[in-house]
Amino acid sequence: MCTSIVVNRKKTIVGWNLDLLDMEYRVRSSGSGVFIEIFDEKEGWLPLFGANPEGDFVGMPTCWPYDERSECSGQGNSIIRLNIDLLLGRKTLPEIRETAENEPVYSEPGVTFMGALSDREGNVLHIVPGQGNLYYERPDHAVLTNFSPFKGDSEFHPWMGMDRYKTAEAMIREAGDGFDVADCFGILKAVSQEKCPTVVSMVYDVSGKTVYWCEQRDWDNILSMRFLKQEYIGCCGLDCETCEARLATVRGDDELRVRVAELWSELNGVRITPDMINCTGCRLPGVKTPFCGSICVIRKCVADKPFETCGNCPEMDTCEKLEMIMGRNRSALENLKMMR
Ligand code: SF4
Ligand code: SF4
Repeated sequence: MCTSIVVNRKKTIVGWNLDLLDMEYRVRSSGSGVFIEIFDEKEGWLPLFGANPEGDFVGMPTCWPYDERSECSGQGNSIIRLNIDLLLGRKTLPEIRETAENEPVYSEPGVTFMGALSDREGNVLHIVPGQGNLYYERPDHAVLTNFSPFKGDSEFHPWMGMDRYKTAEAMIREAGDGFDVADCFGILKAVSQEKCPTVVSMVYDVSGKTVYWCEQRDWDNILSMRFLKQEYIGCCGLDCETCEARLATVRGDDELRVRVAELWSELNGVRITPDMINCTGCRLPGVKTPFCGSICVIRKCVADKPFETCGNCPEMDTCEKLEMIMGRNRSALENLKMMR
């Protein structure tokens, strides 16, 4: 019957349990997303749930008791199409929100599908066809199971999943600021179902651009997929796309500059001021921080060889210069291997 979770703390973590009875499904992963597809006799495989590289996530819990206001009145937008538009990157979350707020949204006859949608920033949009929408700007967390957020438990149905909702809420509240992938899988496991079985459990570490999933509650066999844009991988393997110095620069965000300067000063034991936090990315045109632009020995070494990144260098596995970075960020090594 499904559970949707979004948590915004140090990281943005999204979780989704797909509970499914008697329907064919498959998980398909590629550079354009990790999609859970359902087989429809008329339309074939439909990507209805999952994550895309832009940081969007789509869950679609059913809503019980069924409410006939969600039936199509002859005009408006299908909730299924809106959800697919976000998942396939045809529309952004703000565009879907605008549509949902200004035009009618309908579901399928006899069943109310809801949209449990989120984006890279951790903003959340819940669409309940025929009843309304709720938008949360980067909430600490948001949970949705199979009841209408407009009705709560005022109307009872055995499938509405208030128990799962309460369990997930309590576990999220207990978890600290470091809420991470393992915490999210812990909750998905606690609310997983056997009667209407949980067939896919998926967690999206949006900040780390990595999707994790397992099928049929096989918690020891978790697969993963990282979305990487090669041009954003720095000479040393760091992913500049998620670097807060770059985000502060491209967004013109002075508050973030101050926070990054304080953090980097503490980590490096030197004084770094907010005006130094200006960088578009190691291998992209534009301004660089003093460290990345002129001090970084790795960037100089790569330019002298010349290579694109250390991933092209035969000395990569034994290089002492690189070791400094790898000690702090193991994913940099994986990024370089991918660039080979
Ligand atoms: S090059 Fe710029 S964007 Fe990349 S890690 Fe360094 S400071 Fe961040
Ligand atoms: S020697 Fe090779 S691996 Fe080491 S910094 Fe230079 S290019 Fe990178």
